[in-house]
Amino acid sequence: MKQLKNLFEKNNQWVSSRTLNDPEYFKRMSEQQAPKYLWIGCSDSRVPANEIVGLEAGELFVHRNVANLFPHTDINSLSVLEFAVDLIKVEHVIVCGHYGCGGVKAAMQDHCLGLVDNWLRNIRDVYSKSKEALEKIHDPKERFNRLAELNVYQQVLNICHTTIVQGAWARYQPLSVHGWIYNLETGKLKDLDCCFSSADQLDNIFRITPAM
Ligand SMILES: [Zn+2]
Repeated sequence: MKQLKNLFEKNNQWVSSRTLNDPEYFKRMSEQQAPKYLWIGCSDSRVPANEIVGLEAGELFVHRNVANLFPHTDINSLSVLEFAVDLIKVEHVIVCGHYGCGGVKAAMQDHCLGLVDNWLRNIRDVYSKSKEALEKIHDPKERFNRLAELNVYQQVLNICHTTIVQGAWARYQPLSVHGWIYNLETGKLKDLDCCFSSADQLDNIFRITPAM
């Protein structure tokens, strides 16, 4: 007996609804993708990338992992970024965190969850960097929310520091990197006002002159 029959039924319903008024929908989708945006978000099931921003399939290139991280040496994230910037030529990279993130919360606690603690270590580094400011926030929920914002900001910087993004800027390819956060309680996005569009905005130590 086929497992998860309900999901296959839903799939059939979805195919019918898509093709009802647009019989060529899947033919068009299969031909090529040309999204303008790369979304780097959390794996959390309550943060569905396309739905939040009201974009259709084909309009958003998506990478999700626990706590929307972009570690410098993560081959998975770097490969997604390279593909999106160099081949698809997206014009915007959006790092979108969310308040109430389980990954951020776990990084603020001292109990061991397993392998994922090594991944979340990236957030402990963010905490450590801003420890003084964070510990001035007495309300635990506010401190947790602030860490989620600072985590987004750090991932935006990590993306800007790559040879991929700096290479695009050196070629005058239009590319901006944005940091946003999603509120699970309201469904609203907040722009964290940390948009980078050129290497001039980076600290000198992180600037690279890419080989052309
Ligand atoms: Zn999360």
